[in-house]
Amino acid sequence: MAADSFHYALSSNAAWAGYKCHQNPTFFAKQTKGQTPSILWIGCSDSRVPETTLLGLQPGDVFVHRNIANVVSPTDISVSAVIEYAVIQLKVSHIVLCGHTCCGGAAAALSNGRIGGVLDTWLTPLKTARKQHEEELQGIKDDSARAVRLAELNVEKGVEVLKSMFVVEEAMKERGLDVHGVLYDIGVGKIRDLGAGCHGGRGEEKGEIVKGKHGMLVFGNGGAAMAIR
Ligand SMILES: [Zn+2]
Repeated sequence: MAADSFHYALSSNAAWAGYKCHQNPTFFAKQTKGQTPSILWIGCSDSRVPETTLLGLQPGDVFVHRNIANVVSPTDISVSAVIEYAVIQLKVSHIVLCGHTCCGGAAAALSNGRIGGVLDTWLTPLKTARKQHEEELQGIKDDSARAVRLAELNVEKGVEVLKSMFVVEEAMKERGLDVHGVLYDIGVGKIRDLGAGCHGGRGEEKGEIVKGKHGMLVFGNGGAAMAIR
């Protein structure tokens, strides 16, 4: 993007708003009535993983928390507040914790150098996962494949933390909230279900469908699928 990328973004926004109005004249008026998203997405801040765009969904479909390397920490008041609001007030049906390939956070946690500032502290959960799985990770010769494996392990740990949070545990038992651990492949644009998630009270039914305004997500045991309407 050019040096005046901010001005380009503003003009792009104006064009997008005009296009949406043309496509659906009541789109923005409906947005002002409130939100009823069925998915809480917790993902990485990485610019290549914009959840609503890559899910093919629309404003209003996904409630979001993103931070560097999609870390879920019970002592992080920001992610905890988002989870509490999404689960208790919005009553989302799904929490999707998404890691991704080419994650700079995972690569940094695998290097032995210090980044500096608060980043080393922030990435401690990934470094802990690295130490716990040192042997397996060292056995992976390819650097990017090793970073992908650490990103997967980070998602698995995050899902465990999520499932241990009181509000999540309660909603899983009481109304069948589902927690999914997934990995987004930046090179192909697809999401893979890691199977690290745990289904709530609705059992193991296959192919649960979450419909957005112009598409739908299908959560099955073998992975996630998306269809455009
Ligand atoms: Zn990342």
